[in-house]
Amino acid sequence: MSTTVNAYGAPKAGAPLEPVTIERRDVGPHDVKLDILYCGICHSDLHFAGGDFGPLPVEPLVPGHEIVGVVTEVGDQVTKHRIGDRVGIGCMVDSCRECENCLRGDEQYCLNGHTLVFGAADRDGSFTQGGYSQAVVANEDFVLRVPESLTPASAAPLLCAGITVYAPLKKWGAAPGKRVAVVGLGGLGHMGVKLAKAMGAEVTVLSRSEDKREAALALGADAYHATGDGQAFEKLANTFDIILNTVSAPIDLNAHLGILRIDGTLVSVGVSTEPLPLDVFALMTNGRNISGSQFAGIRETQEMLDFCAEHGVTADIELVRADQINEAYERMLASDVRYRFVIDNATLA
Ligand code: NAP
Ligand code: ZN
Ligand code: ZN
Repeated sequence: MSTTVNAYGAPKAGAPLEPVTIERRDVGPHDVKLDILYCGICHSDLHFAGGDFGPLPVEPLVPGHEIVGVVTEVGDQVTKHRIGDRVGIGCMVDSCRECENCLRGDEQYCLNGHTLVFGAADRDGSFTQGGYSQAVVANEDFVLRVPESLTPASAAPLLCAGITVYAPLKKWGAAPGKRVAVVGLGGLGHMGVKLAKAMGAEVTVLSRSEDKREAALALGADAYHATGDGQAFEKLANTFDIILNTVSAPIDLNAHLGILRIDGTLVSVGVSTEPLPLDVFALMTNGRNISGSQFAGIRETQEMLDFCAEHGVTADIELVRADQINEAYERMLASDVRYRFVIDNATLA
């Protein structure tokens, strides 16, 4: 027996999302069930639903991986969560827990493949479906505690946008005395600004045009440069310790490498579906590094949520109804979002 819940899903790759119903499994011994309060809209949802990553693995596909909800049911072996707890689910709902990468807490790099929260084959052979829905059932180990001091709707984007930038900023040493450039001021980018500032770094925003200058400085950025005409790259040569690329399209890798100072690192979390040309001389100069990062493991995601509670960091959001999801997608493609759309899941009722 399963439960039928209302959701919003893409019937075909690239087609507008529409109301659908999906099944949620019964709560197993190690599962928790949550009523979803809010779900953020990440650009990865657009890539998936739009077919950028290939044909849809399941039709309809219900996206959504920035989930905040309240626990309504727990399995009889569950120890981590209780009914009534405010919790979150991010990009993953399972992994093998046995491989070298899982054992060091990097379940996102599970050598046997992590299970994404939507569009992935689950252990029971069904396909996972995401957070644009009324409720979800998941293993307790992949469910996070969302501190009560965080406003739930603005905390939802932390489950992907927040952790995806927190992990590489921390890994590459964002701290007082370090200069961080955030490339692209969307959902991930604005969290990059807030979190790099909270870590004590000096933060510069690199955006395509002048449009977001005031907004970036209001978020706490120390400096802002429009990169559209290319001149900023000359002015900024030899400046940054860390460049965090959050752009949802190809970037000029070599121009960005050129503004790293000695030992600096360009880390990409933004997805280009095309390969990017790399000039090895741009990499060798200053002994530069290039890296990538995919969300993070569960332990670090919990650490990030607790860090955000301690530093009062959440996302700047625009709350939307479920019937506004397609409009939100169009506005994101036009970079018209300050800075994250979050679905009020009560509107799925
Ligand atoms: P978003 O809110 O749409 O922001 C993307 C930003 O990229 C835009 O605000 C814009 O910044 C810039 N941009 C967009 N199109 C561009 C173009 N054609 N050329 C140059 N710049 C462009 O997206 P998001 O939700 O932050 O996600 C950003 C990317 O990260 C997506 O590709 C997403 O799939 C990826 N992602 C990766 C992970 C991971 O684990 N690695 C996790 C989550 C998301 P400006 O207007 O300031 O120029
Ligand atoms: Zn995401
Ligand atoms: Zn594993």
